[in-house]
Amino acid sequence: MTVSAVIVAGGRGERAGGSLPKQYQALLGRPVLAWSVAAFEAAGVDQIIVVRAAEHAVLANAALVSSKVTFADGGDSRTASVRAGLAMVEPAATVVLIHDAARPGLTSAMVRTLIGEVNGGKAAAAPALKVPDALLRSDGESQHEIDRQSIVRVQTPQAFRADTLRAAYAAIRPETQFSDDLSVVRAAGVNANLIAGDERLMKITHPQDAAVLEKLMSGDRIIAVGNGVDAHRFGAGNFVTLCGVEIPHDKGLLGHSDADAGWHALVDAILGALGEGDIGAHFPPSDPQWKGANSERFLRHALQLAQQAGARILHVDVTLICERPKIGPHREAMRARTAEVLGLQLSSVSVKATTTERMGFLGREEGLAAQATATLERAP
Ligand code: MG
Repeated sequence: MTVSAVIVAGGRGERAGGSLPKQYQALLGRPVLAWSVAAFEAAGVDQIIVVRAAEHAVLANAALVSSKVTFADGGDSRTASVRAGLAMVEPAATVVLIHDAARPGLTSAMVRTLIGEVNGGKAAAAPALKVPDALLRSDGESQHEIDRQSIVRVQTPQAFRADTLRAAYAAIRPETQFSDDLSVVRAAGVNANLIAGDERLMKITHPQDAAVLEKLMSGDRIIAVGNGVDAHRFGAGNFVTLCGVEIPHDKGLLGHSDADAGWHALVDAILGALGEGDIGAHFPPSDPQWKGANSERFLRHALQLAQQAGARILHVDVTLICERPKIGPHREAMRARTAEVLGLQLSSVSVKATTTERMGFLGREEGLAAQATATLERAP
């Protein structure tokens, strides 16, 4: 079974306000479009096609890092954009989901449920919500109540048997416009199975919608705490680099990179809170390109991973463990550098130091060690 998802992200989104089109604006620290891509990925979808406006190619590339994503150029209408996305769906696909980028509250559970509906024999399935308000048809002076029991609000993603959707699109006239894809297959006589919708799948349409959605989506955010430890051996040299600050010393630190144990421990702490392995997995010591590397690069990489995951670093705390050099005189400079790279306030960054009372390898000044904690807010 091959499952493909098409995300329609071609809109210019003027109504939602802001300097960027809404699908590229940050929602809880992550581009709106990236939330849907992450949900499809987490659900195990095989192919994700993002249909974006050709002039937004750079924005779209910057917003997405998934290797599963391919891009298609959008058309003049939603229907034309879906058609462009469908043309790139793998021939082997048996299930196709079509989703609007402006609905970033998508969960992987919803994706799996919809795929299950189609695999269970339904030709089409979509989430829908009942309407709690009274509905009126209001034409000037006359008002008629509509029976809301028979009304539902249809959301996306909408899931289809691939052959059903392809045949329905092949049968419609090229110039005909449809508001969604259920209406395309309905034109071919196929009714969808409607499943329970999700308020978080609300569509960002107006400027205030993003704030409402952030509240809905942040309800299930967690606080994750990661820790990291690192040590480097002293060798010949006349300075050490710790938390991005060069400190004169009668020794240097040995390491493949600049041997900044403070930031290495901090990178591991951030990766730990993200569940992203350790620094060695991201920057293998066997790779010559990291020889002598400035560890700022590693820290910025960890920050970028956090941002891509929609996580926010709340606080970091680094402890340096050594007899010498004395850390105290350089502590504030280390805090400032770390805060600068991570884009945090000084009050959210702690750097402190301790000795081991001359015990052990640190006490004998064979090397220097660091320990770090990072507190992040992120999706579970
Ligand atoms: Mg290290």
